[in-house]
Amino acid sequence: MAASKRLPVAARTWSSLPKPSLGSSRWPASPQRYKAVRQTPFDLALFPSRSSSDQRRSMDSGTTDSASSNPHHAQAGAPSPDGPNGASANRASANASSTSGAGSPGTSLHRAGAWGASAMGGAPQGSGVPEPETAPAPEAAPVPAADPTLDPAPDLSAAPDPVAAPASGATPALDADVIVVGAGIAGLTAAALLAHAGLQVILLEAHRQSGGCAGTFRRGAYVFDVGATQVAGLEPGGIHERLFRHLGEAPPAAEPLNPGCVVDLADGREPVRIWRDSARWRLERQRQFPGTEPFWQACALLHRSSWAFAGRQPVLPARSLADWRRLLAALGPGSLASGLLVGASMADLQRLCGASHGESGQRLRRFLDLQLRLYSQQPADRTAALYGATVLQMVQEPLGLWHPQGSMQSLSSAMERALARHGGQLRLGHRLEALRPPPRPGESWGLEVRQRGGRPQALRAREVVLTLPPQTLEPLLGDQLPAGYRRRLQALEEPSGALVFYGAVRRERLPADCSPHLQLDWADPGPLFVSVSREGDGRAPRGQATVIASVFTPARPWFSLERQSYETRKRAALAGIQAGLERLLGVGDGDWTWAELATPRGWARWTGRPFGYVGGLGQAPWRFGPFGLASRTPLAGLWLGGDAIHPGEGTAGVSQSALMVCQQLLKDRGLELELA
Ligand SMILES: Cc1cc2nc3c(=O)[nH]c(=O)nc-3n(C[C@H](O)[C@H](O)[C@H](O)COP(=O)(O)OP(=O)(O)OC[C@H]3O[C@@H](n4cnc5c(N)ncnc54)[C@H](O)[C@@H]3O)c2cc1C
Repeated sequence: MAASKRLPVAARTWSSLPKPSLGSSRWPASPQRYKAVRQTPFDLALFPSRSSSDQRRSMDSGTTDSASSNPHHAQAGAPSPDGPNGASANRASANASSTSGAGSPGTSLHRAGAWGASAMGGAPQGSGVPEPETAPAPEAAPVPAADPTLDPAPDLSAAPDPVAAPASGATPALDADVIVVGAGIAGLTAAALLAHAGLQVILLEAHRQSGGCAGTFRRGAYVFDVGATQVAGLEPGGIHERLFRHLGEAPPAAEPLNPGCVVDLADGREPVRIWRDSARWRLERQRQFPGTEPFWQACALLHRSSWAFAGRQPVLPARSLADWRRLLAALGPGSLASGLLVGASMADLQRLCGASHGESGQRLRRFLDLQLRLYSQQPADRTAALYGATVLQMVQEPLGLWHPQGSMQSLSSAMERALARHGGQLRLGHRLEALRPPPRPGESWGLEVRQRGGRPQALRAREVVLTLPPQTLEPLLGDQLPAGYRRRLQALEEPSGALVFYGAVRRERLPADCSPHLQLDWADPGPLFVSVSREGDGRAPRGQATVIASVFTPARPWFSLERQSYETRKRAALAGIQAGLERLLGVGDGDWTWAELATPRGWARWTGRPFGYVGGLGQAPWRFGPFGLASRTPLAGLWLGGDAIHPGEGTAGVSQSALMVCQQLLKDRGLELELA
C-alpha cells in the first residue's frame, strides 16, 4: 500500500472525517453526537473507508498494513509501510481470497456494492483484520454509484420523514417489525429467533461478512479464526444445539476437544491438561493441585445448580413484572445455596474451601487466574464464584468445548441459513450511524444507516435490538440518551482490548502431541491463549498449521500513539508473543511461514467496537447476573444483546443473551418463546 495514502490516526481532524451527509438526510443533525464521534476512535470504526481502488490494490498485491509486521519484513530490519519484503508473504497474500463463510449460498443477502467482489473488479473480498491507519482520508474515497441490483434498500430521497408524523396523520410504513444491529453471533441469533417467531426482521451488519469476533479471514492458503476459536454449547442440550434445533437448522460440524486446554504455568512443572473425560480430569487435578478437591467439588455443585437455573431460561437482571415472574419460576432448590454466594469471588470460594494454602493453593490460584481471564476478563479475586464455577466445568462431558470443522465462520453461516429459512433479511455492508427514538409512544424507531459508498438510508422499525457494546449508545443516540442511563454507561469499567497473533508454520516444526488449545503464563505482553489448527480441519494446507495467540491488553492506550511509537510498540508485542510461542511450542523466528499481529486498532476496525473493546464488561461479583446491565433499556423498544449482557462473552454466552432479549421482546407482544 502506498505510504502516502495513509493518514495516521493522530493526523485526522474533524474536518477530515466523513460527514454523515445529514444535509441530505431526513433527520435533523445532532451536533452533540458529532462531537462524541469526533472525540473517540469509534469514528474510525464507524467509517472504515478505503477507496475501492485502494482495496483492489491491497488485495491484488497482498500488501496490507498488518502484513507489514511480517517476520520476513521485520528480520530485514527495514519495516516499510509498502508491505512485506518477504517473497513468501507476498506470494501468500497475493492469493488472498474471500472468507470462507461470507455469503453462504441460500442466504438472503443484500451486499453493499463497494464491499462486494463486483465493486473490486472481481477482486477477492477477504481483507483480514484491517488497521485504521491504512485507510485513506475518507472524503478522498470515490463514492461508487449505488447499485440497486445489489441492494434493494429503499431510495430515501423520496421517502417520507421517518420520525415526524406524516401530514395526513397516518402512521409511516415500517421497514420491519424489528431491526437487529450487528451480525455477530448475538445479532444473528436474535434475528433468527425473531424471524422464526413470525416477525419481519432486518439484520444490519457493517462488515461485508457476518460473525464479528467469531468471524474468519483468509490469508493466501490459510484461514484464520479472527477471535473465537472454540465453541461451548454444541453438545445435546447445549445452548447452540438447542437454538439450532428450535430453528430447524443443522449445527456446524465440530469435534469435542479432549483435552479442552493444556495450561503451562511456566513454573518448570508439567502442564495441566484439562481433560473432557471427567474421571481423567479428577486424577489430573488431584495430581497437579493436591489437597484442593473440596474446592472442585464446590465448583461442581454450583455448576449443577447454575446449569439447571440457566436451563429454565430466566431473565437477568429482571426489569419488568414478566421478567420477575420468569426469574422466580427459574429458581430451584439449588438456587438457595448458590444465592448465598452471590457476592463471592472465585478467590473467596477457594479460601472457603480451604484450598488456598501452601504451594498447591498458590499454584491453583495461578491456574484459576489464567483460565478465568479467558472467560470472565478477570482474575480469580474479581470473578463471581457463580460464574467462575460454571465456566470451569464447561470442558467436561457431557458438556465440552468444540472445534468447528472448516472455520469458526461455519457457526455464523449456519445461523445465516436459519435466518434466511425463516424469512429474515441480512443486509451486509450496512452501518448504523444514528438512532432516533419514537417521538411519541407507540410510534417507530428511526435508524440512519449508511450503505458502504452509498447514500444514507432511513429505516423504521417498531423495535431495535442492538448487539454492539453499550459504549456505542452515546454516539448513536446523542442527546436522546436519558441522562441517568448515560451516567450509568459512563461509569462502566473500561473493557479490555486484545492483541492477536496470526501465524502459520510447517506442522513438523510443532511438538508431535501438540494440543489444539494451550495457555502459557507469560509476562510480556501477557499470558497467551494459543489455538493450533488440526490436520485437515480446513484452516491450513496439508503438512502446515495455523497458530493463533491472543493476549489481553488495555485498549485505549493503543489509540493515542503516534505512528512511529505505535509501530514500535506493535513490533515489540509481536516479538514478545513469538518468544512465548518459541517457549511453548519450540517454533523459532525462522519457522513462521506467515505472521501478523492485530492490535485494538485493528479490532476497532474489524468489529466496529469502540477502542477495539472485546469481552464485554467482565464478570466481577458486582457486575454479574442481577447486578449487570439489563437488555431492557430505559428507552421503550430499544434492547441490548451481546457480551455486555448476562451471561457475558463467548459465543454461548452471547447466544444466551440473544435468547433472553427475544423472550422479553416477544413477551411484550404477547408471545412466548421457549426452547425445547
Ligand atoms: C481474541 C478473542 C478470542 C476469543 N475466543 C473465544 C473462544 O475461543 N470461544 C468463544 O466462545 N468466544 C471467544 N471469544 C469471545 C467471542 O468471540 C465473543 O464474545 C462473541 O463472538 C461476541 O459476539 P457479539 O455478537 O456479541 O459481538 P460481535 O462479534 O462484536 O458482533 C457485533 C457485530 O456488529 C457489527 N457492527 C458494529 N458496529 C456496527 C454498526 N454501527 N452497524 C452495523 N453493524 C455493526 C460488527 O461488524 C460485528 O459483526 C473471543 C474473543 C476474542 C476477541
